[in-house]
Amino acid sequence: MRLIRVGPPGEESPGVLASDTTYVDVSDVVGDFDARFFQDGGVDAVRPLVRERVAAGLVHDLSGLRVGPPVARPHQILCIGLNYRDHAAETGQPVPDEPIVFTKAPNTLVGPDDDVLIPRGSTKTDWEVELAIVIGRRSSYLPDAEAARAVIAGYAVCNDVSERAFQLERGGQWCKGKSAATFNPMGPWLVTADEVGDPSSLELWLDVNGERRQRGSTSTMVFDPATIVQYLSQFFVLEPGDVINTGTPPGVGMGMQPPVFLRAGDVMELGIGGLGRQRQRVWSAVADGV
Ligand code: ZN
Repeated sequence: MRLIRVGPPGEESPGVLASDTTYVDVSDVVGDFDARFFQDGGVDAVRPLVRERVAAGLVHDLSGLRVGPPVARPHQILCIGLNYRDHAAETGQPVPDEPIVFTKAPNTLVGPDDDVLIPRGSTKTDWEVELAIVIGRRSSYLPDAEAARAVIAGYAVCNDVSERAFQLERGGQWCKGKSAATFNPMGPWLVTADEVGDPSSLELWLDVNGERRQRGSTSTMVFDPATIVQYLSQFFVLEPGDVINTGTPPGVGMGMQPPVFLRAGDVMELGIGGLGRQRQRVWSAVADGV
């Protein structure tokens, strides 16, 4: 299934895609795609309902509707750094022996086609297409990759927008360069794990103003999704609905010669095979008075 949330920011309704352009509204039986939904086995519970409604023709057109992030209010967004060998090389960093973990403020989450704001004082706002994992059950100390696979609800596209000066030149931790408003477009869908199959052979891409900047495959990840989830569960209590950004392939602005960063008016388009695509316009927080 492909889970989707439609409607104005903060007032999205949960639905399930019936086709690429239509969806079944499930808001009368599902409060939202939140921690309770995932923990209570909502993904499996909603399947027969969706089948019934599709058979009865109870589908709605998506055209003209805003799409929000496919998960409501995650308890945390965790991220993995330098998880593609070729991306580590372009940043001049060694390939890590253990996953590099950092956090991102959960209220960075916006819809896949919402605007991205360059924060105040920024000169180095950058893009990162990533495969995101959504956790399906509360988990800690998972014993192995198989146990980890069993707690993954599904996958989605995220843009791990990053301010490189805040991240790397201002001391402290990376989280400062990752947590500005609008810095985590997610969606359009959460594709359930059963439908994704093997998450280690997905193609990722990102364009800025129509020029291809990032191109990669999850097959070149250093740590695969199940390994990441098992690893994180040794240090964090993972909650249902938590989002994990699994790192970005090469082609970020910081790695270009000379480096290139986002400017107001730019357009980012990105996607992952089978998980849908996103499109964001870039604006300046200062110019817009945010
Ligand atoms: Zn990232």
